[in-house]
Amino acid sequence: MKIVIVGGVAGGASAATRARRINPLAEITILEKGRYISFANCGLPYHVGGEIETREKLLVATPELFWRRFRVAVKTEHEVTKIDRNGRCVHAVDLKSDSELSFPYDRLILSTGSEPNKPVANTEWPVNVSHLWTLPDMDRIIESLRSRNVRKAVVVGGGFVGLEVVEQLHRLGIEVSLVERDKQILAPHDALFARIIENHLREKGVGLKLGADLQDFTIENGLATAAVLSDGSTIETDLIVVGAGVRPRTALAVEAGLTIGQCGGVTVNSVMQTSDPNIYAVGDMVELVHGVLNEPVRIPLAGPANRAGRIAGEHAARGEATAMGKVLGTAIVRVFDLTAACTGLNEKLLAARKIPFKSAIIQAASHAGYFPGAQSMQLKIVYSPGDGKLLGAQAVGGEGVDKRIDVIATAIHFGATVWQLAELDLAYAPPYGSAKDPVHMAAFAACNDLSQFPNLVAPDSVLNGMQIVDVRTAKERAALPLPNAIAIEIDDFPERWQELDRSKPTVVVCHSGKRAHIGACWLRGQGFRDVSNLTGGMAIRSLISKP
Ligand code: FAD
Repeated sequence: MKIVIVGGVAGGASAATRARRINPLAEITILEKGRYISFANCGLPYHVGGEIETREKLLVATPELFWRRFRVAVKTEHEVTKIDRNGRCVHAVDLKSDSELSFPYDRLILSTGSEPNKPVANTEWPVNVSHLWTLPDMDRIIESLRSRNVRKAVVVGGGFVGLEVVEQLHRLGIEVSLVERDKQILAPHDALFARIIENHLREKGVGLKLGADLQDFTIENGLATAAVLSDGSTIETDLIVVGAGVRPRTALAVEAGLTIGQCGGVTVNSVMQTSDPNIYAVGDMVELVHGVLNEPVRIPLAGPANRAGRIAGEHAARGEATAMGKVLGTAIVRVFDLTAACTGLNEKLLAARKIPFKSAIIQAASHAGYFPGAQSMQLKIVYSPGDGKLLGAQAVGGEGVDKRIDVIATAIHFGATVWQLAELDLAYAPPYGSAKDPVHMAAFAACNDLSQFPNLVAPDSVLNGMQIVDVRTAKERAALPLPNAIAIEIDDFPERWQELDRSKPTVVVCHSGKRAHIGACWLRGQGFRDVSNLTGGMAIRSLISKP
């Protein structure tokens, strides 16, 4: 049995080691066009900033180790140029000697990853303009930092990689500007949650340019000295790092006639076989089934690549394997003092597909408020108004964001409703959480909403024509004014609710939605028929008007 694997990083390396564990007799070869295999690409930004101090730490495994421990032959600097499906072999070029070779296979596993999008593609990039996608990219950026006096940098792309680079360059004392083509950073998040991170970037002194793309750069003495943007503006810079998204690297698969799906990735079945059952594909280059949409999507992330690699390796080695689970796009990024994480679908996507949804936003502490060090987070769950099924979640805040999103991702994976989320038995002691965890609080808010106890309205709802009741303190109202509202502080409610008009549709508002819930319940109890709570409160609504 000859198993040949093309691409030796996340998916490819996982496939190789799993295949070996399953089948000690198979002849396994990895062909990798780069100089390294199994390197920690997710760690690259952190070595640029020095948080991961030594470069060697990124080299998770070497070709020597693969041979010594697994008897997997690794051929680095071997680029596969063609798949001969009839002859069951791949053609490759040894990039060191420029010689052509062919490698026969019984099973072929493709894990060729993705290609970073390249703005200003028609101009040859100077050395101080780079992607951060490979170890050589990272080396080039570090070389720029070492050899030149880099005081200013422009990062293009406000996705996960771009934000990590912004944080790490800022850590080095560099004045960083972030350029994002969209009107918001962090596309998997809804705009108001992304805005929390945008505001945090500005607080840290990062220049933020939204709605503009890198169009060109000014070059002097062979180096980029300014980024020229699509809105006509320019930003002076000593370094440009581009993280403007990726596209699947499918040329080999296309040329071999393998089926390509509607999202541009290779089509695979549940055990990662392509339209040719002897050829598997995994990682950034494939389409996987989304757990909520139940349709193919591309999720270029390390988790699915590693899990799929394991499945392909197993199936290639013994002809059977457990099916690949559906994906939710669960992702997380640290941006200075905040963490942003998400899973499942966001409102933008649901609205674009005309899928009905509702959402509940809560503000909660990472652990019991009376225990020192609690950090605040905003947590949003999105659910179906019909059956309460969870559709997605987003969180932004300090400590504990990761745990909450992972719990909700698990719940979504098993098809849970908001009522089932509210039932989860989660670990609690004051240093770790609260007896009613933020996950529960979000679920409670959603359950209240669906049972009209009272219902929630979105933070960006138009409130004109409604009786708006502001239950915050005078100080809070002064800090974040809410026009046209009747102010009745929550503790004055029992005495003053009679001032309100029972016949009008009424929305109760506080800072986070918690006190507003008490006020709204009070009014319902007093016979108000149409009363709702502004979910997320002024903490979220106030973000609408900000730039
Ligand atoms: P890769 O790991 O990219 O491997 C593909 C390999 O195939 C490459 O080494 C390439 O040289 C080789 N190859 C391509 N064509 C050929 C050919 N013709 N012949 C031979 N070899 C070929 N994901 C997360 O989930 N969390 C993170 O925090 C995260 N951070 C990231 C940070 C950075 C800077 C980068 C670059 C990526 C990050 N990712 C992260 C994404 C994650 O690394 C990828 O989703 C994952 O590596 C994809 O695995 P893969 O096997 O499909 O491709």
